[in-house]
Amino acid sequence: MTHLEKAVQLQRDGYHCSQAIVGAFAEELGYNIKDAFKISTCFGGGMREGGICGCITASFMVLGMSLGFYDPQDKALEMYGNKKAEEFLALFKERMNGDITCKKILGYNISEPDDLAVIRKEKLMPKLCPRAMGVCIGILEEMLEEFRGRKDEFLNETVEETVSVDSAVVRVDKRREFMRNVAKLLDDESNKVAFIQFDIRRFKIINDLYGEKFGDQVLFFIEDTLRILCRENRFYMNLRADLFIVVTTYDTYEELNDFIALLEKQFESFKKVKLQLIFGIYIVEDRNMEFRQMEDRAAMARKSAKREAITNKLFYQEKFKELLYTRKFIEENMKTAIAEKQFKMYLQPKYSISQNKIVGAEALVRWIHPQRGMVYPNEFIPIIEENGFIRKVDYYIWEEASRFIKKCSDLGITDCPISVNVSRQHLKDTEFIHVLMKDIENMGIDKSLLELEITETANDEQITKAAEMIKEDGFTLLMDDFGSGYSSLNVLLETPFDVLKLDKKFMDNMMASKKGTLILEHVVAMAKKLNLGLLAEGVETKEQVALLSEIGCDRVQGYYYAKPMPQEEFFEMLLEDRGKK
Ligand code: C2E
Ligand code: CA
Ligand code: CA
Repeated sequence: MTHLEKAVQLQRDGYHCSQAIVGAFAEELGYNIKDAFKISTCFGGGMREGGICGCITASFMVLGMSLGFYDPQDKALEMYGNKKAEEFLALFKERMNGDITCKKILGYNISEPDDLAVIRKEKLMPKLCPRAMGVCIGILEEMLEEFRGRKDEFLNETVEETVSVDSAVVRVDKRREFMRNVAKLLDDESNKVAFIQFDIRRFKIINDLYGEKFGDQVLFFIEDTLRILCRENRFYMNLRADLFIVVTTYDTYEELNDFIALLEKQFESFKKVKLQLIFGIYIVEDRNMEFRQMEDRAAMARKSAKREAITNKLFYQEKFKELLYTRKFIEENMKTAIAEKQFKMYLQPKYSISQNKIVGAEALVRWIHPQRGMVYPNEFIPIIEENGFIRKVDYYIWEEASRFIKKCSDLGITDCPISVNVSRQHLKDTEFIHVLMKDIENMGIDKSLLELEITETANDEQITKAAEMIKEDGFTLLMDDFGSGYSSLNVLLETPFDVLKLDKKFMDNMMASKKGTLILEHVVAMAKKLNLGLLAEGVETKEQVALLSEIGCDRVQGYYYAKPMPQEEFFEMLLEDRGKK
């Protein structure tokens, strides 16, 4: 049921308008429906006293519960919430042609007994209220949707919102004019039209470093520049803080690209600080699509560009929709996933080729979602690494791994170390070492059985420092994905790893040519000279096994032997391998 259907149904069941609205959103606000009714009952009284349509006060409650601030220090959220309330009223007024009082909407005064009698007799409420409810719910849905998409910004870029140049009402007017102009461009079938949305990379930092006044100066400069560049068939608007949109006609791609290049050049002329812009471009294909959808597509392209290292502009592609959907799904569901233990530890065995025996395993996380099924790490890890949630997931896996080690040790199996992945997110401070130590202590296991994998990156002080600490504390350290980056050899020099895990791609490449095989041979020889352990990852074929064995790399992990499997399954396999079954 949609929110509106729910609200209308509640009204039919005899609840008044504010109860119906709050009731429709109760579940997502975390209320059971009875409490929602109780709270919103008082709005009915307010409506009778103050005369304002009860749907509005109820909507304010929904807004407040969803995006109101609760921490007086949280200025950004406070301003955002206030702004949204202001916007809400302006939009409601606009969509209801100015009617915001209950009396105007119903035509009778609900506080007067005689009028109330007419309202009841004529059944005016179920006839006339759904329009106001529909308008309210429509605006609420838009606002909550927008907020959901922006939660991340609140976590990471809170200052952004404090720079707000226009009042909400001015914005609504400007937006209306902007939409009219764009509609005109689109009406002319001969026009090719593009939506270009852009913002400034790390605008928050500019604000933090130089103050909000300076931030305002930057924004004024951008507006001034746009005012000069956007004439005739080109319109712009400041969507919020440092986010702008330009809609323009163009004849050829070159012309469009030239225009964007010109924008960049002009913005570069701001001398006081270097402005890095990020552009998302949507080329209008379907003119009948809703304006908002076109805007959204430019926004999706911009958000994707934000994550790109190589370019600062991207044209919209259909796949962004899917990616954004996945991102939203992950962000909205990750907390429940931890709480409900949807994350599972899978284990992938490591083998000794010569002994043909299991010599360890790597713990790999899987997310088994009750509706969506298996979600693979490549889908969700990059996202939860960005927002820091990876820490929680890793802690969970480390604990599981420790418990597994304990289970094996209790059976006398003390020669099957489990390696866990340590996201780079942990290396910023020392908390992770304490967590690991605690796991080991709590389970009473041997430290040598819990090994740590860290992905090699460009020579990085943070990694070196963290690695030194890990070593001091007596852990075994594996360098993950060796050969996939650039400065592997440098990292070797700086960082005290115990084992190199040869990356799958690196091996595939090396095995493809004679020269490559020679390099591989020497890497193996070098590792031996440096007293480093060696393990080849992603081994899939008999030929690979033969070659690795020939050049002296005895330890392997890969589909050829076994895929990652639920820990229970691995446990059985291990028991068999150790002759305990
Ligand atoms: P990784 O640490 O390099 O893990 C090895 C990946 O290669 C695993 O993918 C594994 O399933 C896959 N693999 C193993 N053998 C083969 C093979 O023969 N052929 C091919 N094509 N692939 C093979 P998975 O489990 O999807 O994990 C992907 C990445 O996600 C991992 O790469 C790791 O970086 C990250 N990850 C997985 N679990 C965790 C975790 O618990 N914590 C953290 N921080 N990262 C994790
Ligand atoms: Ca790994
Ligand atoms: Ca790896």
